[in-house]
Amino acid sequence: MQNKRIYLSLPKQSGFEEQYIKNAFETNWITSGGPNVEEFEQKLEKYFEEESFVTALNSGTSAIHLALVLLGVKAGDEVICQSMTFSASANPILYQGAVPVFVDSEIDTWNICPQFLELAIQDRIKKGKKPKAVITVHLYGNPYKVEEVHVVANKYDIPVIEDSAEALGSSFKGKKCGTFGSLGILSFNGNKIITTSSGGALISNSEVDKNKALFFATQAKDKAVHYQHSEIGYNYRMSNICAGIGLGQMEILEQNIQERREINTFYKELFKDISQVEVFENTDTNFFSNCWLTTILVDAQNKKGINRENLRMAFEDANIECRPLWKPMHLQPVFEKYPYYGENIAEGLFDKGLCLPSGNLSFEDKNRITKVINNFIGIK
Ligand SMILES: *Cc1c(COP(=O)(O)O)cnc(C)c1O
Repeated sequence: MQNKRIYLSLPKQSGFEEQYIKNAFETNWITSGGPNVEEFEQKLEKYFEEESFVTALNSGTSAIHLALVLLGVKAGDEVICQSMTFSASANPILYQGAVPVFVDSEIDTWNICPQFLELAIQDRIKKGKKPKAVITVHLYGNPYKVEEVHVVANKYDIPVIEDSAEALGSSFKGKKCGTFGSLGILSFNGNKIITTSSGGALISNSEVDKNKALFFATQAKDKAVHYQHSEIGYNYRMSNICAGIGLGQMEILEQNIQERREINTFYKELFKDISQVEVFENTDTNFFSNCWLTTILVDAQNKKGINRENLRMAFEDANIECRPLWKPMHLQPVFEKYPYYGENIAEGLFDKGLCLPSGNLSFEDKNRITKVINNFIGIK
């Protein structure tokens, strides 16, 4: 009999979601926007503590798109983006008709390299265009080098859009990820640390920006009884039903982070005597990760035939889902014609890296994973 599949990142229910949804139906708020949406925003604003304003939207991708709109990014403008990320970080640049400029990762955090960022900015300015924004990413929940990156962006006075889609609950020096940029974004897609089935949010530090985001997310209606539009709007608001799921999920956010961090510890223990496998870790305690996904690098050079693909296939044979790291954007067919600055650090990580099942694992799931590893290393 085939074992039940173990997935990379499954959602986990708190049990409170249905009550909020039921309430939405009972009060007929089965619309986009509504009391659940506002309460969800308030909960998030409280979570971020500092002066944070949150606009709940229908996806993380729409949040990035609105961030570009709010920063006035237009056709022909250039926007710098971390190359190693999910395509949703970069796609909205193209929605605006702007030009993405990709920057390599550095080896400590796997995120945007501050040196190459500066090089890219200087070179783009030399070529005649100062980038309009920088999109940074806290990949897999691991904070990027916040201080170094923001020093560079500030030096050239370029706003940062902080893609915190994978990093709700992560922090740097005690300050929560999502609050470092001019604008931050979250995702509540089904695979993230909490979900609204599909959803996202824009984090800003002023009420003015929040109101602008609301305006553009609801079709840019001017103040008039008839439908009057002076700007192009979008249909990006979160649904009141989805926000109900989000409210239920907020109840277990801390618990989810705790569990994913424990899963990370489980993998560190599992691989600690296996020299060919290195579990990603930032030993600098200023960097606190929600451990959304645990990732490993598998030494490609060892003689025993232990490599990323063989390990992935061993898991697959046991019906356990693992995935290579995000393939860098500058290597993607749709993006390869755009400028890139770096020396293939991200490419090297992509060649050796694997994401392991990291959410909602039972005791039995962990045993199955352990067995695969023991067999795999044993027979090699
Ligand atoms: C998930 C994700 C997004 C997009 O979020 P959606 O809610 O799926 O649109 C953006 N950036 C990164 C890095 C992500 O992982």
